[in-house]
Amino acid sequence: MPVILWFRQDLRLADNPALTAAVETGEEIIALYILDTDNTLGGASRWWLHGSLEALAADLGRRGVTLTLRRGRATDIVPALAREAKASAVFWNRCYDPVAIADDEKLAPALAASGVSARSFNGALLLEPSELKTDSGGPFKVFTPFWRALAAQAPFDAPLPAPKKIRAGSPVPSDRLASWGLRSAKPDWAAGLRETWKPGETEAAARLTRFLDGPVSLYAEARDYPAVAATSRLSPHLHFGEISPRQIWAAAEAARHAMPRTANGVEAFLRELAWREFSIHLLHHWPGIVEHAWKPAFDEFPWVEDETHLRAWRKGLTGYPIVDAGMRELWTTGYMHNRVRMIAASFLVKDLLIHWRHGAEWFEDTLVDADLANNRGGWQWVAGSGADAAPYFRVFNPVLQGEKFDADGDYIRRHVPELARLDRRFIHRPWEAPPSVLADAGIVPGETYPAPIVDHARARQRALAAFAKIKGN
Ligand SMILES: Cc1cc2nc3c(=O)[nH]c(=O)nc-3n(C[C@H](O)[C@H](O)[C@H](O)COP(=O)(O)OP(=O)(O)OC[C@H]3O[C@@H](n4cnc5c(N)ncnc54)[C@H](O)[C@@H]3O)c2cc1C
Repeated sequence: MPVILWFRQDLRLADNPALTAAVETGEEIIALYILDTDNTLGGASRWWLHGSLEALAADLGRRGVTLTLRRGRATDIVPALAREAKASAVFWNRCYDPVAIADDEKLAPALAASGVSARSFNGALLLEPSELKTDSGGPFKVFTPFWRALAAQAPFDAPLPAPKKIRAGSPVPSDRLASWGLRSAKPDWAAGLRETWKPGETEAAARLTRFLDGPVSLYAEARDYPAVAATSRLSPHLHFGEISPRQIWAAAEAARHAMPRTANGVEAFLRELAWREFSIHLLHHWPGIVEHAWKPAFDEFPWVEDETHLRAWRKGLTGYPIVDAGMRELWTTGYMHNRVRMIAASFLVKDLLIHWRHGAEWFEDTLVDADLANNRGGWQWVAGSGADAAPYFRVFNPVLQGEKFDADGDYIRRHVPELARLDRRFIHRPWEAPPSVLADAGIVPGETYPAPIVDHARARQRALAAFAKIKGN
């Protein structure tokens, strides 16, 4: 009897524990992917998913296996396919968001009731939320002790190799990927994504190798400078599971061993990777953080609904160059540098007083690495409402942040072309440039580039006054 291997956020063949276990049964395998009709994926994520499924289907095809595509709710599709294919077992890797957990809790008994065994594995984390507890047995709320506890458990199990051979089950009816319309041709807004990214397991592994061969040695010092290519850009590959954290950990440790000069970079990089684990840990233990503040007082924060400001922020037309550069990098490439994510997010929630949920939703629509745990966690961190978050009263000054982390304005010039010729003295504060300097740079204030939509000093005071109004802050 065949077994079903249900791919979820683990679109890879190497270090895929569910796949390895399914292959080890010696049975024929039906490979399945379900497009969840309850999950409204953002545009950039849909673009990525299409590419990732194409790559996975090709990798499986080389082993003679067809990827079966179905659309609907997993809780309906999985048992139905098991009946249809007379499968004896279903294998999958666990996910940790509230919907996936609820699905798993329904699926396992439903399959068991019809005599199909359900076997699930950890393919997404170094350690699962249940494996890491504080000394008093509870979940971690602070990152540094979480990181210490995680690192203390290293080395982790060695990554599994991709199975050389997979016994293919008889083909079953499948949707065509193109019929899912994940990549819309009209309008074709994805040119920047195509230029920047290549989804798939092969590219994920190549990107890791390129990073560990070079940029990692800069990582500890340069990871905050958005004009420098010092970070791994593995986030979308990690989100879709084209690479696993165990593979990354093992390769980074090997690099540290082989090239001692990378030691600081590797340490800082693995610590960031642990933030992903921490975010998932928090989401698992506090699923309410998707919609609500982790610190409940923040649910009473006097947020402002201002569609005009929100639109200016989304379009990168706030008049603050570093914020605008970030928002435009996001729109064109589906990515934004981490330092700039913090600056742009802070501007929305503190300078504009707009609810972090609006920002999180825009990011989820436009980021190729949009990830519920990391994104909601990131937004709540910036807003000050999250676990171990930045204190609310620490309001980022977008001018000083820009001057510190993009001193020459290279990042701004790259993403805000209308400021490209502006003298570096004014690149972060164009409103202070004398008319002759603006004229030389071809800038007409308010026409080619907007005046600041709020005055930062006043906005900061307003934010602090709003913060003072909430209880227990
Ligand atoms: C407001 C806001 C929203 C964010 N939304 C997302 C999101 O939707 N998806 C996402 O993957 N990350 C998100 N992040 C975290 C971080 O910005 C990205 O993970 C990082 O910029 C990805 O680039 P990289 O792969 O080059 O990172 P690297 O610096 O190379 O780090 C390696 C990996 O570690 C993980 N990581 C790094 N920093 C963080 C962090 N602060 N929190 C959690 N994981 C981290 C990522 O998986 C990343 O790929 C957000 C941060 C903020 C402030």
